[in-house]
Amino acid sequence: MPRPILATVHPAALQHNLTQVRRHALQSRVWAVVKANAYGHGIERVFDALRAADGFALLDLAEAERVRALGWRGPILLLEGVFEPRDLELCSRLGLWHTVHCDAQIDWLAAHKTQQPHRVFLKMNSGMNRLGFAPERLRSAWARLNALTQVDEVSLMMHFSDADGPKGIDAALAAFDEATRDLSGERSLANSAAVLRHAERTRADWVRPGIVLYGSAPDFPEHDAAHWQLQPTQTLATRLIGVQQLQVGDSVGYGSRFVAERPMRIGIAAVGYADGYPRVAPTGTPVLVDGVRTQLVGRVSMDMVTVDLTPVPDAGVGSEVTLWGRAGTLAGSTQRGALLPIDEVAQAAGTVGYELMCAVAPRVPVAVE
Ligand code: PLP
Repeated sequence: MPRPILATVHPAALQHNLTQVRRHALQSRVWAVVKANAYGHGIERVFDALRAADGFALLDLAEAERVRALGWRGPILLLEGVFEPRDLELCSRLGLWHTVHCDAQIDWLAAHKTQQPHRVFLKMNSGMNRLGFAPERLRSAWARLNALTQVDEVSLMMHFSDADGPKGIDAALAAFDEATRDLSGERSLANSAAVLRHAERTRADWVRPGIVLYGSAPDFPEHDAAHWQLQPTQTLATRLIGVQQLQVGDSVGYGSRFVAERPMRIGIAAVGYADGYPRVAPTGTPVLVDGVRTQLVGRVSMDMVTVDLTPVPDAGVGSEVTLWGRAGTLAGSTQRGALLPIDEVAQAAGTVGYELMCAVAPRVPVAVE
């Protein structure tokens, strides 16, 4: 028998979350962001559920080829653009839109021999200070691109650093409005947090939601996924493979990080950091056992974690353990429905839902349900 661990992707939830995005985005066209292998879900597994989007935004040519191989003829956007001049050839062949964020990419375009003109999104740096032209340099980059015969459509984009944070969107939005005031071209501004929190000011021609499609709240814990009516799209579950009875003073796991203060049963679950479960998740991190909420105790090992079975006295070897998502995804489970939001687990581990869903390891089998 294989190890009992399983990740499950929920297509109905992806569809539901896309519908929620449309409720906020109204007439804006939606780039469904499927970079990082669809935030760890698998591009091929989410494609059907998200094909009602207007386009797919992703990272590189390899991901773009996978989306084309699925039969998608519509728009695809490379969010970081091309990485070297020869990428432009494949861009043309695949009919991609690509981001242009630096002078080198314009130089490559200018030197590129092509019959098929390119569609580009010129990116402004609006304060994130990762990619993009400074506001005062945007106009000249736009003019350069518009003068190239290799380019037939120049759109404009920016990326918020703080749509869910203390800085907010005001300064970034003002800088973008000012820099693009009389420049022609379609606009794309909003990521998930902006779509949910600032839709009326950031909708524009296109929005670019990622995490919200995967059912995680970008502004957790201020608002949780339920507040935004999002549904979880990924479950990680396994089973108990052992049970131990602890006496007062007994410790658990490497480093003896947890010491029992009362007699208690603990369960050993077949999941560890080699499966993508965060090693830093401390005692107290929530888990579900047979759909009942309990907590991690002791350190996360490579292939195992230990959980407190006090709230689930009937649990034993074979009981279902849900690390995040919906209880009831494993064969024979009768505990359907209970929910453990990925954002709660992420918060306990000092990270974000994005990282957990992206980190599920290749050795974990995946079902689509
Ligand atoms: N647009 C760009 C340029 C991005 O880099 C990302 C992700 O980091 C997104 C949109 C989607 O962001 P989110 O997942 O927060 O919606």
